Amino acid sequence: MVADFVLFPSRTEWEKISPSVVGYLEKVRTRRLCEARFALIETRTEALREVYESYLSTHRDQEPYAPSYREVARTEPFRTIIYDTPEEDRVGVSQFVSLMDNFPGIIDSWRTETSMLLLHIYTKGSGSPEGKVWLESDIQMLSRATAIFTCSVCCRLHLYPNVLTQACLQKAPQGDASVERVDPNFTWKEDAHIVREEDAISSVTEIIQVLGEDPTSITWKEMDELDKRVECLRCRRTQSGTGKIFRYVMAWRSAVSVNVLQIHAAC
Ligand SMILES: [Zn+2]
Ligand SMILES: [Zn+2]
Repeated sequence: MVADFVLFPSRTEWEKISPSVVGYLEKVRTRRLCEARFALIETRTEALREVYESYLSTHRDQEPYAPSYREVARTEPFRTIIYDTPEEDRVGVSQFVSLMDNFPGIIDSWRTETSMLLLHIYTKGSGSPEGKVWLESDIQMLSRATAIFTCSVCCRLHLYPNVLTQACLQKAPQGDASVERVDPNFTWKEDAHIVREEDAISSVTEIIQVLGEDPTSITWKEMDELDKRVECLRCRRTQSGTGKIFRYVMAWRSAVSVNVLQIHAAC
């Protein structure tokens, strides 16, 4: 009697398809490992977040210059605990609480490092000699009215120090996913896509010059204190009834917005 069943796939067929089946199973396995690793790091990072945010809530003066908790997670001594503690060992809030004394130092060096980086971005292409070594004292240049940056992800304009904390962080591509590379955390340095906002800089420079001030040194604060006004030659309104045309006189910050965004009020 002939059997109703045959081996499927036959040996030769199996030999043909086995590489793709094995490859598929390998991919599924890697994906599961990646997901587990991601969840593990995320849970530990969340515990750090709780402690770090509670620290910041009592140190509001440091907050404008503080890295995100995701960056603190990638900074020692937290990095080793989060990334290198064996999977089966519990990592929790209490461990991070005992290391809270590290926060001021981390915030301080992060502030200096990112500010120096911004200084390089700000001065690049502005006539400063290439490769010039900037000093920490030069960071004050970031308070200039012409220190304007933009985020190449959302195109919003940023001033210092808000650019440090308000830039949207878009994770840099990590290449082929492998368990070792899985990481929900990111850093400002690698993931904030900040560039000089050339149009806004020339716009602000123009307004400062019209107001008779020096755009290469004046700060936002000094400009605010001067409280000078400009008359826009393009903004105008017609008085109802008489039909008389008036020009707008505006504070310097309003002039900047109108000029940068090109939102002149034409009647
Ligand atoms: Zn953005
Ligand atoms: Zn105008």
